[in-house]
Amino acid sequence: MDKTSEILFLKNVIKELVEKIRKTDFLTYFKKLSIVSIDENTVVFWVISSFAKDNISHKFYSEIKQIVVAIIPEIKAIDFIVDSNIDNPSNHKSIDCLKEYKELTNKKKKEEIEDSNNVEWSEIKTINEKYKFENFIVWPSNQLPFSACEAVSRKPWSAYNPLFIYGNVWLGKTHLLQATGNAIKSKFKDKKVIYTTADRFANDYITNVKKRTIEKMKEKYRSIDVLVIDDVQFLSWKEQTQQELYNIFNILYESNKQIILSWDRAPRELTELEPRLKSRFEWWIIVDISEPDFETRLAILQEKSRAREFIIPQEVAEFIAYNSGSNVRELEWILNQIIAEYELHNTPPTIENVAARLNKLAITDKLLGNNKTKKMSIKSYDELIDVVSEHFAITKKDILSEDRRKENQIPRQVAMYLLKNYLNYTLERIGNIFSWRNHSAVLYSCKKLEQILKKDQKLFYEINVLRDKLGI
Ligand code: ADP
Ligand code: MG
Repeated sequence: MDKTSEILFLKNVIKELVEKIRKTDFLTYFKKLSIVSIDENTVVFWVISSFAKDNISHKFYSEIKQIVVAIIPEIKAIDFIVDSNIDNPSNHKSIDCLKEYKELTNKKKKEEIEDSNNVEWSEIKTINEKYKFENFIVWPSNQLPFSACEAVSRKPWSAYNPLFIYGNVWLGKTHLLQATGNAIKSKFKDKKVIYTTADRFANDYITNVKKRTIEKMKEKYRSIDVLVIDDVQFLSWKEQTQQELYNIFNILYESNKQIILSWDRAPRELTELEPRLKSRFEWWIIVDISEPDFETRLAILQEKSRAREFIIPQEVAEFIAYNSGSNVRELEWILNQIIAEYELHNTPPTIENVAARLNKLAITDKLLGNNKTKKMSIKSYDELIDVVSEHFAITKKDILSEDRRKENQIPRQVAMYLLKNYLNYTLERIGNIFSWRNHSAVLYSCKKLEQILKKDQKLFYEINVLRDKLGI
């Protein structure tokens, strides 16, 4: 080791020591320190007096050795000597520990002050790869927010600004917001895109107020090109923060910066919100995400299982889509349960085992809670058609056919009516089941049956029997 490296090594040892031992001990025993030699496995230190040597080697041997080994792992031992020749500057350069101590503590203080001047700033830097436009399934009730976000990502600062998305939880707001942020980031590399949540914003605000760095925080926000704030509802009770956010919005908006927000309620419903902020929201571009219907839930389930390379039998998928709640996360959750069951026990999903599993996990009540009239005993449209055709003593082929004979027509209308009113099937879907009739033909059949039912007490009774059989 040359002289410069030795000094550097020694300074490092001292720095660590200052951290490790009490201030008075350091200043008492380590007045001056120098390196005599560093060989393959021993470091020999020079110390100023025998008093220092005795105390250091008794009290701080292990601390110093630990520090030394952390820097040079090969070292096996350390030693201390007192030699009046060594402090000769031309020979060995010793370090004045008091001076070193002062420098170190001053530096630390400065760092602390600088640190306290740093603005608290929580943006979510890690782009979640999960959230992309490509893996966002578009359905009728989220088409508008999806298109709006896509338009913003293609042409921020012009199309829809500020863009405000609201909708119930788990309907994909975070997914859309992050996807938009990510798309803008990759397209406009020099622009500053910030994604954060209102909660983080509020926490930052409070911390910066405490640290008296609020002006710096504002300055930082002013430099943003695209500001994405998720879950703004968390601000509803924080008045000061709302006020600040309002000011920031105004500044960004006036300098033509893009703002995108999400909220889990419609702004009109928010009574706690500061009136100015609320009125601002009301004339912004607002789009809402609403819940997926049965068809969409089915499509989501199929899409998600395809993505996981797992095949769910159609009737099981329908059963889940029918019985599950109306958000994507719940569907994902059920799918995960099914896949785990398959991977762990090699049990392929059937309606029975899925129902049993969901029952066991006490999810049934929750699922049923979404629509009290639904019952788990319903299996699929297939079973409904079986039960109806058996009841009227006709074949399944006949009930599904285009044949217009009266004895087939009534059972067919009854099946359609039950599917529409009790299984919430859409007209299109019913049409597809019944030889690809179009939806107005289905609607016509259902209306026709309703008229018949008004007069035909017996048929009305039969429908109730069927409902009872089916448990719907
Ligand atoms: P929110 O923010 O509205 O509460 P999230 O964006 O967190 O909802 O969505 C919940 C989960 O459902 C996420 O895993 C998300 O990727 C997924 N998800 C929601 N909507 C869709 C969709 N349309 N296509 C694909 N995945 C979706
Ligand atoms: Mg969210």
